[in-house]
Amino acid sequence: MGRKCLDYVNDLNDYLDGELDPSLCDEIEKHIGHCENCRIMVDTMKQTVTLCREGKPEKLPASLEDKLSGMLKARWEKKFGK
Ligand SMILES: [Zn+2]
Repeated sequence: MGRKCLDYVNDLNDYLDGELDPSLCDEIEKHIGHCENCRIMVDTMKQTVTLCREGKPEKLPASLEDKLSGMLKARWEKKFGK
């Protein structure tokens, strides 16, 4: 049984920061390869991370994490039902 997209939200943060365990990195890249939701999320996060880095070196703000996980949850429920 694989992990749900929502389980990846926090790991994706570290993934984009390059701080993630290599084995988890592989897992995420594999998942992103066949999951449109997470691809979109990574793209969104990448943009945000770039914006953040241009400003100040900080992690994603909690508000954005909430927004992303809410977005994912909505898409997930739409696709698979509750
Ligand atoms: Zn996913």
